[in-house]
Amino acid sequence: MKIGILGGGQLGKMLYAPANKLDIDIRFMDSMTEGPVSKIATNYTIGDITNYDDVMAFGADCEVLSIEIEKVNCEALKELELQGTIVYPQPQIIELIQDKGLQKDFYQQQGLPTSDFKFFDSLTELEGSIESGAIQYPFVQKMRKDGYDGRGVQIIRSESDLAQAFSSNFITEDLVSIDKEIGVITCRDAKGQVVVYDPVEMVFHADANILLYQLGPADINQEVVDRAKDLAIKTAEAYGIVGLLAIEMFLTPSGQLLINEVAPRPHNSGHHSIEATMCSQYENHLRTLANLPLGDTKTLTSSLLMNVLGAEGFTGPVQYEGIDKILTIPGVNVHLYGKTTTKPFRKMGHINIIGESKDELIAHYQYITDNFRVISK
Ligand code: ADP
Repeated sequence: MKIGILGGGQLGKMLYAPANKLDIDIRFMDSMTEGPVSKIATNYTIGDITNYDDVMAFGADCEVLSIEIEKVNCEALKELELQGTIVYPQPQIIELIQDKGLQKDFYQQQGLPTSDFKFFDSLTELEGSIESGAIQYPFVQKMRKDGYDGRGVQIIRSESDLAQAFSSNFITEDLVSIDKEIGVITCRDAKGQVVVYDPVEMVFHADANILLYQLGPADINQEVVDRAKDLAIKTAEAYGIVGLLAIEMFLTPSGQLLINEVAPRPHNSGHHSIEATMCSQYENHLRTLANLPLGDTKTLTSSLLMNVLGAEGFTGPVQYEGIDKILTIPGVNVHLYGKTTTKPFRKMGHINIIGESKDELIAHYQYITDNFRVISK
């Protein structure tokens, strides 16, 4: 079976490993000539995944098509589906998820919990709603499309913040009081069977809103774990998606769970699943594409996941300073994406630390932060 993946970034690279393991014919398309997958895949096409003709040409030789990033040309995927190609996740689901406004609308229609929101076409319209009292400070403003890693999201606290506000095609959301941000990954196969991973928890810097690391499993009580998993399964079923669905949720101080957004593909919050669970998210996604039975999602060990980001002040050919010091620590798994050049804050890899206790994991995290840096040669 020929499986094609749109996108050749790090998530694609991590799909490649289980495809090798299971001897699955996998091919990729991306415009990057020196991306994480281009270095390793035997079948790699240079092409624009947002371009109709490029996606049609790539899809013509695939029996099953999937994605590792959701910014793809859905018109081409719909046409390929009509012509008989299996496309998972289904193109209309990718299209809906590409638009944060349509996503929120979907949760509301399905009775799935999410913060209240409103659609806006222009700043004038927003100003009108503020004046009439329909919207009150503070609130969250989000671009409907093409935001990622927090770009395209801002908190508007007062009139003075309106000067930096997005000017068109955005939504506003109630500012949620967040106790914890958690992520839950599901995988649903074509027969409708769903498996779910244990929730993980994002830990942020106390003052700056910077993600420090992710803890798996999340440090929350069993009742919340059960509710979060249940909500994640309901969400995957509401979409009717085939393949992975990562659900980002907010846990409020009163114990309510609200869906923030979802990703219909392998997700950062599931990187730990390679070493810390029975069957990784990547392998489970591939299994659904290849029509193979789903794998066990059981957590095998506690983990702490941290990003490897380019250090400030360095741009150029990458060098991993101090890697020799950290590779000797038991339980430290370094994953480098194979990007040849570094720049400040570029995601160059991640480290998944596995171990017994949260204290031990945090001690290793601290040591790595102090002794390892991504610099240029
Ligand atoms: P992106 O898709 O760029 O990751 P998100 O929608 O996940 O954007 O938002 C980024 C961050 O902004 C979230 O992780 C959360 O910390 C904060 N955030 C988003 N929506 C809200 C909200 N309604 N209330 C409070 N904080 C929010």
